[in-house]
Amino acid sequence: MSLSRLIFLFCMSMCIGHVQCGPVSNHGNEVFGDLYANAINYAQENTETLEEILAFDKAIIEGDIIMPSDRNAVDAVWPAVNGTVSVAFVIHPDLVHMTNSMLKAMDMVSEHTCVSFHKRSTEPDYMLFYPRKGCASYVGYQGGEQKLYIGPTCTFGNVAHEILHALGFHHEHTRLDRNEHIQVIENNIQTGKDSNFDMKDGKTFGIPYDTSSIMHYGGRFFSKNGLPTITLLKHSSEMGQRTHLTPQDMKRIRVLYQCAGTGEMDHKPSKEKEERFLKMFGRLKKLYLRVNGTITL
Ligand SMILES: [Zn+2]
Repeated sequence: MSLSRLIFLFCMSMCIGHVQCGPVSNHGNEVFGDLYANAINYAQENTETLEEILAFDKAIIEGDIIMPSDRNAVDAVWPAVNGTVSVAFVIHPDLVHMTNSMLKAMDMVSEHTCVSFHKRSTEPDYMLFYPRKGCASYVGYQGGEQKLYIGPTCTFGNVAHEILHALGFHHEHTRLDRNEHIQVIENNIQTGKDSNFDMKDGKTFGIPYDTSSIMHYGGRFFSKNGLPTITLLKHSSEMGQRTHLTPQDMKRIRVLYQCAGTGEMDHKPSKEKEERFLKMFGRLKKLYLRVNGTITL
């Protein structure tokens, strides 16, 4: 689906969903122009809500979670093969132009955790990146071919967010302790979308609430009037970022997937660190040879 068709559909759904859209008068084109511009902004900033809004799909909850989601994360981890979790993936041919976003998202997860990804050969269980209007995912391992929906406005950060859903994680703002950190402003939520802000009992692994988590909603998700649906109770925190995994995001993956050294916040060395180490080791080796004339490893 083209972006313009997506935006048109979005404008229509916003009117149906009672989002601010003034009456079309003599200045109808102007009004539609404003609505169009607002819709583009909304679609880009809240792309994880589009699948629920545009698809009118009852199987989608919280904007981008596909039912069933009633299992808790501990029961839904991807299985390890020979002691390591490497998730097989396939990118649908219609998403080839977005390959970099998907690879970047998978790299971001594998760089900081013991979960890695590889192109599928014949594995029965795999993630299939599949084109849709918005971004969406099941929560946790489902078995067999498991679709992750990717829409035209999904960034690599949105893709990483969906991968974390698929690995077993829910939205941070639905945690039972969220009212100590955020306030949900119900008056600004689109009609019928309140359930996206319901709290759920789930495993938190003792990791503190993280407003900066890549799994936290943005402040205007499902806003009917452009005003905040979530505000922070404590200042100097960010909310709704989709650019990086926070230390807590890395930790929750590492704990759930029992990565070595879990709890110590250590992670696999990056290529850069590895190269730095080898260079340093090379220098030490030369120095040792110069001093001793021989080396035994
Ligand atoms: Zn989500």
